[in-house]
Amino acid sequence: MSDEYWDEDLDTKPWVEVLAWQRTQLASFVTRLAERSPFFADRLEGVQVSGDFDANEWAEIPYTTKDDLRAGQGGEASDNLLGFLQCVDNSEVVQVLASSGTTGRPVYFGLTDGDRAAWADSIANMFYTAGIRPSSVVALTTGMPLVAGGTPYADAVRRIGATLVWVGGQTMARTVSIVADLKVDTLIGTASFATFFAERCEAVTGRPASDLAIRTVIGGGEPGMGQEAIRSRIRDAWNAERVSEVMGLGDVMSGLWGECSEGNGMHFTASRNVYVELIDPESGELVDWTAGASGEAVYTPFTREASPTLRFRSRDHLQVMAVSCRCGRTAPVVRCVGRTDDMLIFKAMNVFPSAIRDIVMEGFASQIAGPLRVRKDRIDQVRFDDPIPLEVELPDGISPTDAGDLGWRMEEAVRERLRVRVAVELLERGAIPVGEYKNALTYVRERS
Ligand SMILES: [Zn+2]
Repeated sequence: MSDEYWDEDLDTKPWVEVLAWQRTQLASFVTRLAERSPFFADRLEGVQVSGDFDANEWAEIPYTTKDDLRAGQGGEASDNLLGFLQCVDNSEVVQVLASSGTTGRPVYFGLTDGDRAAWADSIANMFYTAGIRPSSVVALTTGMPLVAGGTPYADAVRRIGATLVWVGGQTMARTVSIVADLKVDTLIGTASFATFFAERCEAVTGRPASDLAIRTVIGGGEPGMGQEAIRSRIRDAWNAERVSEVMGLGDVMSGLWGECSEGNGMHFTASRNVYVELIDPESGELVDWTAGASGEAVYTPFTREASPTLRFRSRDHLQVMAVSCRCGRTAPVVRCVGRTDDMLIFKAMNVFPSAIRDIVMEGFASQIAGPLRVRKDRIDQVRFDDPIPLEVELPDGISPTDAGDLGWRMEEAVRERLRVRVAVELLERGAIPVGEYKNALTYVRERS
């Protein structure tokens, strides 16, 4: 660790050299997978696994999907805790976590001691990049022990040598008093939690959040932290000097990307353990890491022991913001613009709920409370022939009848920019529940 970088060698080596080094690590990983897992042995049939891969040879290997992982678990097929994707004996698995996806049965994954060490190191890089230092006093706000943002995040904060204050699971009043008592200066939470916490702080303690010592707010786990309107709202509420977005994926590693002090997006911070590719989600073709490019991230955690995956399709759509950065890190800088699973179709137009949110937040942030969501009739609804229902919360004390033509103006803004129609429903403050862990941008109306 230096003042600037967690892993100076890989953080500052030219990106093509990082990728070349990683490809020298892939052959032994793939060999082990084929020996240990019947699932991957099938996948790798006919693939030349000795020596170093070049990018084209590697691109011949089939992708793994979330459905593959789900299908590989449960049932009678295996004595392994984690089914036929598990590549170590049960006795070597020291922890099991579950992915926190909002749809489908959870997918479980395991960590060996080696996995825990690898995760702690790479996730520490993510947090170091996002602004945590050994002198930091860090509140971790997740209260859910099974999620990948629990123990692995705690381990990474301690790995840096920072002071961990794990406040998750407390009432808001207790959380606020702990944060105040211990002069916590860094908060890790979701964007919606950071906003909600700041609002509740004054109501609970009579002091605005900006009176507390928190100056760095690190957020991930849901879209929003990359959006300027949300960032400035958090910065103002906390009087924060730094708002950093982070992103990971439990199935691969719960910390993969971290935003540097330039504030232009997230660098890839897991190069020591994970190989990342960008692909066109329709054709499956590789996409080059160039500024302005976008595509789905595909990950291979090439040091993973317990429950590895291979060319895992994340369904996360990344936009490459830059391939060089004044901070000196050489990994690409990205924002996550949405998830393939979230994509909606209005007539023939594809649209991400996050794109709708971004337009509403950009034009109307000062006139609304913040929470908004798209309403679906069924969990698998993708197509909308009528305008897409969009629920938007108004600020405290404003009722929908006071709001005039606000809803109509939002609809027009979305139509002009995205060529998609939404039907805005304005709601009173508090109508949209705030989740502790992550807030979905879509929800399904309960049938009564
Ligand atoms: Zn940077």
